[in-house]
Amino acid sequence: MKLHEFQAKQVLAGAGIAIPEGRVATTPAEAEGAATALGLPVVVKAQVHVGGRGKAGGVKLAKTAAEARRYADDILGMDINGFTVGKVYVERAAKVAQELYLGVTIDRDRRRPVVMLSTVGGMDIEEAAVTDPEKIARGWPDPLLGLQGFAARALCFAANVPAAQREAVATVAQRLYRVFVASDAMTIEINPLFIQEDGSVVAGDAKLEVDDNALFRQPDLAKCKEIGPGEEQEEAAKALGFSYVQLDGDVGIIGNGAGLVMSTLDAVQNAGGTAANFLDVGGGAKEAVVKAALEIVLANPRVKCVLINIFGGITRGDEVAKGILAVLAKSTPSVPLVIRLAGTEAVAGRKLLEGAPLVSRATMDDAAAEAVRLASGPSRA
Ligand code: GDP
Ligand code: MN
Repeated sequence: MKLHEFQAKQVLAGAGIAIPEGRVATTPAEAEGAATALGLPVVVKAQVHVGGRGKAGGVKLAKTAAEARRYADDILGMDINGFTVGKVYVERAAKVAQELYLGVTIDRDRRRPVVMLSTVGGMDIEEAAVTDPEKIARGWPDPLLGLQGFAARALCFAANVPAAQREAVATVAQRLYRVFVASDAMTIEINPLFIQEDGSVVAGDAKLEVDDNALFRQPDLAKCKEIGPGEEQEEAAKALGFSYVQLDGDVGIIGNGAGLVMSTLDAVQNAGGTAANFLDVGGGAKEAVVKAALEIVLANPRVKCVLINIFGGITRGDEVAKGILAVLAKSTPSVPLVIRLAGTEAVAGRKLLEGAPLVSRATMDDAAAEAVRLASGPSRA
């Protein structure tokens, strides 16, 4: 689960990390009022669950309250990397001397958290990570001991943090690490961590992603959960217990078993297409589950064709067929369906589907090729 910047900053503030004063606004008038109340200049920042807002024009420095209003008017409703902006955060602008990067995430190779610190912070950190990886200092704290003072200072030396800010940055790193652990985070990031002209250190941005599996013991963070436009299907799928991941292609995918679904994604790719999602109905899916899965995939406006790939073990082909027929009984989908049904009760399933408006293929590759072909054809909608 992702938090908005303003929510993540509250968490940081609670741990003793300095943040600029700010207010959330959902209308240009509110943004103007916030700017006046906070004192100028302010930054007006889009609050969306996606990075790269600065480059997309979603972060603007306003020198007057009227300017804050105008920027809020521009930014509210803006589309940033597929997310529509519903609110902005108006924040007292920092007087920036330098931008650092500070983050903690899980290093899967080492199977423990990694703390990263760099003096090439700001909007180009991703490029820096590729072109100058040595400019990012890394440390792997002992999970039992946490980030110790000496280790935090060693990171500051390794990253070349100015001597005057070494202690302050080391303290922020220790506090950030504590938040990472306490909030069951998968990623926590301050980018940029500003060094201001007066030498003080303040969090310019905040990113916090909490492990969904830990939300049951993070009631305060769970309250921040917000289902934005474009995230509805993922939420509906999760509520039904499916493994579902939204992707950006146009072939909707349903399969049984994570391995088979992964292979299906590959088959679609090999056939020259792109998958719209990953959806695993799990083992032994009954009619109602298959029906719900198909409805979720069909609800995605990007889907131009649905590929259902079932290799029945404990999943029965006749149950799958009944689930599909239950959807078709309500209304004929506006996009073509392609099915490959094999394994347990596949013959019975195919018999049930005879005459139904869908395409059946005997192998995964044939089904994928057909799905890609239909997805690229003229829309039937
Ligand atoms: P992101 O692009 O989504 O990561 O948004 P950020 O919050 O990191 O802002 C992008 C960039 O805007 C930062 O790297 C800064 O260069 C700039 N910026 C953000 N807040 C301030 C501020 O208070 N003062 C100044 N001078 N620049 C800011
Ligand atoms: Mn940022």
